[in-house]
Amino acid sequence: MPDGFKALLLTEADGKVHAAIEELDDAALPAGDVTVRVSHSTLNYKDGLILNGLGRLVRSYPHVPGVDFAGEVESSNSPAWRPGDRVIVTGWRVGELHWGGYAGKARVKSDWLVPLPRGLTPERAMAIGTAGFTSMLAIMALEEHGLSPAGGEVVVTGAAGGLGGIAVAVLAKLGHKVAAVTGRGAAEADYLGTLGAASVVDRAELADGPKKPMLGERWAGAVDAVGGKVLAAVVAQLRYRASVAVCGNAGGIEVPTTVLPFILRGVNMLGIDSVLCPVPRRMAAWERLARDLPMDLLDSMTTRASLEDLPTLGKRILEGGVRGRVVIEL
Ligand code: NDP
Repeated sequence: MPDGFKALLLTEADGKVHAAIEELDDAALPAGDVTVRVSHSTLNYKDGLILNGLGRLVRSYPHVPGVDFAGEVESSNSPAWRPGDRVIVTGWRVGELHWGGYAGKARVKSDWLVPLPRGLTPERAMAIGTAGFTSMLAIMALEEHGLSPAGGEVVVTGAAGGLGGIAVAVLAKLGHKVAAVTGRGAAEADYLGTLGAASVVDRAELADGPKKPMLGERWAGAVDAVGGKVLAAVVAQLRYRASVAVCGNAGGIEVPTTVLPFILRGVNMLGIDSVLCPVPRRMAAWERLARDLPMDLLDSMTTRASLEDLPTLGKRILEGGVRGRVVIEL
């Protein structure tokens, strides 16, 4: 089979999702004007949900998951791309409503692709991946709302995970004093310190939510990967007019707070969405990542895995058991 490639294929039976590695050929690929030979994909929290059939993110099966990928254009019906172009994809609900990156080839719409950012290898672009891209969108939003290194300490929740870890590394490189929140105990303090965290906060301190909607002013800004009561506790401790970039919900979707911190302290919740993000902002975020994320730190937080490892890793990430970023080599 000259155009054959391996894919992690999800099928559904009796309400349960089953994953198997299959050999496919080009005819199996969905419609789209560009076919990409995929070299790397990654594991994100959302991939964990999809691999386990949770969150109703996938509407039809069989399905190839993988919400991001990097590779080389193999064939193109679009004037924008030529065979051999090196490209990456994040967002646009790739891996959810469209087949994604857990396969040797993918076929997508031409305007979902961005060129491999200058200064990044395909592997490093995917070590950043959707999680790291979202971290940068969060930091850009905070900066647009006045965050500067002189303003005081910035807090990052879910810091031992992918999105949180990259946020810690970028903020520290930019000169911010960073407090890293983790539920993994003192054992992670060394790791978070190497990423640049100035202090580590035990998630247990925030996990029950705030005793009152407003507590003492503590943080000049926040990147939140966790949501739920932890987010409510962060909101309660933001300084006057500070903002939290709300990225994730690994800790729940209900946020028990009131209007008071917003009215009386002028704090802001900035929603961050990496799925629908205009191309100029995408390009700006990737350029910033190539510039502001120390590559040695990125390498130190990256592990490599194969398609075969994904069913196990997909369970582990939902338990908060994956550290940093995982690149899938195709
Ligand atoms: P990871 O699993 O790598 O990181 C999530 C971290 O959250 C964990 O490492 C853990 O950190 C913490 N955590 C896990 N479970 C819980 C829990 N039950 N209660 C509180 N904290 C918990 O995932 P990602 O970095 O890939 O994604 C993080 C979040 O961001 C997810 O919710 C994801 O869906 C979301 N996301 C949103 C995007 C967007 O466009 N808005 C894009 C990408 C991701 P620790 O052990 O250090 O406490």
